[in-house]
Amino acid sequence: MATSIYNFSAGPAVLPKEVLQQAAAEMLDWQGSGMSVMEMSHRGPEFISIYRAAERDLRELLAVPDNYRILFMQGGGLSQNAVLPMNLCGGADSTIDFVQTGSWSSKSIKEAARYARVNVAASSQATGFDRVPDQSEWKLTPGASYLHVCTNETIDGVEFNFVPTAQGATPIVADMSSHILSRPVDVSKYGVIFGGAQKNIGPAGVTVVIVRDDLIGKALPFCPSAFDFKNVADNESMYNTPPTYGIYIAGLVFQWLKKQGGVAAMEQRNIEKAGLLYAALDADDFYQNRVAKEYRSRMNIPFYLRDESQNEAFLAGAKARGLLQLKGHKSVGGMRASIYNAMPIEGVQALVDYLNEFAGR
Ligand SMILES: *Cc1c(COP(=O)(O)O)cnc(C)c1O
Repeated sequence: MATSIYNFSAGPAVLPKEVLQQAAAEMLDWQGSGMSVMEMSHRGPEFISIYRAAERDLRELLAVPDNYRILFMQGGGLSQNAVLPMNLCGGADSTIDFVQTGSWSSKSIKEAARYARVNVAASSQATGFDRVPDQSEWKLTPGASYLHVCTNETIDGVEFNFVPTAQGATPIVADMSSHILSRPVDVSKYGVIFGGAQKNIGPAGVTVVIVRDDLIGKALPFCPSAFDFKNVADNESMYNTPPTYGIYIAGLVFQWLKKQGGVAAMEQRNIEKAGLLYAALDADDFYQNRVAKEYRSRMNIPFYLRDESQNEAFLAGAKARGLLQLKGHKSVGGMRASIYNAMPIEGVQALVDYLNEFAGR
């Protein structure tokens, strides 16, 4: 194996080495408690202190206003596609607006249709999910329960480069699973921000939900009580046993992010990393990224070889150089490099060197 391994997985994904080292050092005995974090009661003082620090650090990193609650839930990003309608819409006769920009928003639409009317206000499906439809074309529903957007499409590599505007008082719900904490965000513009942790935060099993106070307490009667935002918020995410170890690792990642200078500093690095990679892909037509330039994701970069018969050779050569998990999602094929916060620029440079070498440049 090569000396340096760089993992480009879309999720579960690379974590900061320092975080994994600290977790390893604390595995058997967390800070003199004599217990692994995995063995602690979620209601004991040790875990409560871990939980509160994680909550506080995330609030600080994203400058979450006081009138928003941070919930650590389970079920992944996908479960929120049902949890959100059950918490925010008034029942089968209400309407939820969607902007369809790729695979994940498409899944959200399908799931929400089980609970309410869905209106696809705009879609880029006809052009192969290569952009975010211009806001002037969105056909929003007056009085919609909420407007759902996926601000970074992990499979298609499409990222919003603007904050959407809803109609009137309609709250905006944003699936930020794969780019949360990669750039500053004005939380006050959204009703709910959610994300599965396994892309840019920590291990699978934790789902972060940031929800505005006034949207809590409206769940439909059939909403499972463990998924009712009010129960979760009223019990500091401990209505039932939370994913304690995942929250602990997420908390270590939040501390690591603060040491890196916070999300504004991460954004600068992410711009640099993505710029380096796109420049190599755009250098000639050996590789191809099909997303309109202004909507290209900084986190998930799908690309195709001009000659797809070389795909296996490309992946084998990458693996031999310690560049792992570059295979594209099965639904779209090709390659994908996910370069989350924890991917160092050295990893991107190593991939760029390999891209140039393989293209014979
Ligand atoms: C990965 C992902 C999801 C699904 O997350 P699960 O934890 O697998 O349910 C949803 N939305 C986006 C944007 C994702 O990247």
